[in-house]
Amino acid sequence: MSLIVQKYGGTSVGDLDRIRHVAERVHRYRDQGHDVVVVVSAMSGETNRLDALGKELVKRPHAREMDVLLAAGEQVSIALLAIALVARGVPARSFLGYQVPIRTDAAYGRARIESIETEALREAIADGVVPVIAGFQGVTADGALTTLGRGGSDTSAVAVAAALEADECEICTDVDGVYTADPRLEPHARRLDTVTFEEMLELASLGSKVLHPRSVEFAGKYQVPLRVLSTFVNEGGTLITMENESVEQPLVSGIAHTRDEAKITMSGVPDVPGVASRILGPISAAAIEVDMIVQNTGADGLTDFTFTVKRGDYEKALELLAPVKASLNARRLEGDASIAKVSVVGVGMRSHAGVATRVFDALAAENINIQMISTSEIKISVVVAERYMELAVRTIHSEFKLGEST
Ligand code: ASP
Ligand code: MG
Repeated sequence: MSLIVQKYGGTSVGDLDRIRHVAERVHRYRDQGHDVVVVVSAMSGETNRLDALGKELVKRPHAREMDVLLAAGEQVSIALLAIALVARGVPARSFLGYQVPIRTDAAYGRARIESIETEALREAIADGVVPVIAGFQGVTADGALTTLGRGGSDTSAVAVAAALEADECEICTDVDGVYTADPRLEPHARRLDTVTFEEMLELASLGSKVLHPRSVEFAGKYQVPLRVLSTFVNEGGTLITMENESVEQPLVSGIAHTRDEAKITMSGVPDVPGVASRILGPISAAAIEVDMIVQNTGADGLTDFTFTVKRGDYEKALELLAPVKASLNARRLEGDASIAKVSVVGVGMRSHAGVATRVFDALAAENINIQMISTSEIKISVVVAERYMELAVRTIHSEFKLGEST
């Protein structure tokens, strides 16, 4: 008998039939003799709806109250699921974040979990009761409600699993696992039976929407066995594993993509110390996240400086740089918000050279221009025009024969 934490996402609890189905699924695990702890998201679309309401009322709603508003969706879904479980004869009890409690810092809208008290949960489990916990929310030391950032209920689930030292954390969702690429872009994409934590972390932060990046970080840090699987299909799934050195790792495990990118170039800036900091200083002071940065080798004392930001920060970043351009006497400030980033991830790259060349050759053969490149030990990212993104994903997918079984 084991202790399993199951997280159900928005589509899994999207309507009453689905909630009944989830209750049945939890019931089945209990019948097999497992202890189950459930973490749920809001019904699909609900958090967006609440978010829009707040922002319709005023342009910049107060952060503390916005969290109270956004967290309301999870209160509905834990109640409905607990009602459905009890009606089936499965004892269940709903828990809001503060009732666990799940303690966080006070960064509204992007709070970090600091600790989880397990006493109340353990008591419920010992009484044969299924705790049904609201994901995405927590409570500060002062008793204020917080949320963890959109998609944060994955992180709630992994944190609860870590705190309870659960045998496994199941992320039950509307896809049956992690794929070599987004199947909506690449119909030949194949489900991975396993993927390493490191690879999953890269894939999640480079645009694969399956898991919230912070949940993967947590799982790696606390060694929580993590599985992504379908709520609706009783087979498949992907296990996120600790790297096993004895197993031959594939060169490339998966391809992630994101459209959420924009690039900004300031050209003809003086090639002197301090230029990067004068350009990026105001950007980071405005809490705008910078991803890739490229500075060309200077010529005639001048150089070009290019970097990427999230598309939502693009206009603001350009605005902030207008005075910098003037003060640096730069030749041009320009940008492009119709770019995309395609990333190739695999732990096998560590021990094999030549992956980058194969990526570049394959893209060149399709006449896809690479605008920027960044690499790490286990990933290669390229920026391309957004209109070439799908083709780039499919081209790389077939270059590394990711669709065929290995
Ligand atoms: N309901 C929250 C959201 O939509 C949290 C989650 O679904 O993980 O972002
Ligand atoms: Mg999600």
